[in-house]
Amino acid sequence: MKISVNFELCESNALCCFAAPELFEVREDELLYVLNDNPPESQRANLEDAVNACPKRAISIDE
Ligand code: SF4
Repeated sequence: MKISVNFELCESNALCCFAAPELFEVREDELLYVLNDNPPESQRANLEDAVNACPKRAISIDE
């Protein structure tokens, strides 16, 4: 699976980082970084939590 983030929607509130800290990180520059945009299946649950946590609906999963 592949993670897509619409950075035009993202407001760097880090909610996805709490749900999936192994996949998302907001750094000191206040920008969101995807740490692994092609995660293993074992991380799907956390990724789905991150998708659902995002109030901007900025994260999507491409199968
Ligand atoms: S939860 Fe959404 S808006 Fe917040 S940092 Fe993550 S992608 Fe951006």
